[in-house]
Amino acid sequence: MTPLSALLAQRIEADGPMTLADYMAECLLHPRYGYYATRDPFGQTGDFITAPEISQMFGELLGLWLAQVWLDQGSPARIVLAEIGPGRGTLMADVMRVIRKVPGMTDAAEVHLIEASPTLRARQRETLKSAKVHWHDHLSHLPDGPLFLMANEFFDALPIRQFERAASGWSERQVGLREGRLALGLSAPAPFAALEHRLADTQPGQIVELCPVLPQIAGEIGARLARHGGAALIVDYGDWHSLGDTFQALNDHRPVDPFAEPGEADLTAHVDFEALAAALSGAGARVSPMVPQGVFLERLGISQRTSALARNLSGAALESHIAAHRRLTHPEEMGQLFKVIAATATDAPPLPALDPT
Ligand code: SAH
Repeated sequence: MTPLSALLAQRIEADGPMTLADYMAECLLHPRYGYYATRDPFGQTGDFITAPEISQMFGELLGLWLAQVWLDQGSPARIVLAEIGPGRGTLMADVMRVIRKVPGMTDAAEVHLIEASPTLRARQRETLKSAKVHWHDHLSHLPDGPLFLMANEFFDALPIRQFERAASGWSERQVGLREGRLALGLSAPAPFAALEHRLADTQPGQIVELCPVLPQIAGEIGARLARHGGAALIVDYGDWHSLGDTFQALNDHRPVDPFAEPGEADLTAHVDFEALAAALSGAGARVSPMVPQGVFLERLGISQRTSALARNLSGAALESHIAAHRRLTHPEEMGQLFKVIAATATDAPPLPALDPT
């Protein structure tokens, strides 16, 4: 038993089973024992590795994308350059290096990070020490102004609820106790308004996931874009529609039982891009088509960038550089599972590499 499993077991004994979303939220962000609250989980020695940690090319290309959007929107004199869930701060550092090459953009950009974990904030401060950076707990604390926002592997860390289709309603998968241990159980089937529309495309026994905080977060982004302009670029794993159980726990790069050691494993679920797009456009933004990460990076010139950087490399460094290109783009690696979507104001110019031209 971890200290957190003892705490959660007490809470379940007192209040009854908890939703998977409440369980995920405690495991990831409990101030004392939460996964993100207590460690830096990234990299070869951590539990998982993300695109900006694989290669500087990822952040460079996202930086170029942001620069192109900034130019296309008439180079506004002051922008809110923001990232939500910035991890180690690597992506923002790579982006800031690239935009220095675009006359006027660094002076225009005020850098804002939205990060819940104090441990990772400290890490971001270290990575970005030469820059003036503002930290926030919530998106709603960002200042007004054209918003240029990135989110890489942020939405997959948001807590989800899971429902199993019954004959005419839904049973929720909840975390309860079995023989004193945390275990999944099912609530009695009942109608559930938010999933009424999914009765048409699911069969009894199938699982559908819902991310309760996603509409509010994506809605806030959409409303800011509609009001102030700019663009949001969202990269994550998932697909257009939620179907099936995608809840997973990773420890030391391997899948583990999500209930065995709460707080010790990274818990994620695939992102439902349809729900993301609906919240963004519901708040007044225009949403681009969804494109696989591999296609997006190729459109931005990752192959050319790989060759250019390769010229100065040899031996093991060259091999790992080539492997990084493959890892980011190949359909069997991150190229297909990860998707990219962007949003902007309805009257903004087409978004590079995403909107049809
Ligand atoms: N974008 C980074 C990190 C992805 S991991 C990368 O690609 O490497 C998820 C990040 O989101 C972590 O920084 C985590 O602490 C942060 N996070 C998780 N839930 C959050 C929340 N509710 N609000 C703000 N940040 C959150």
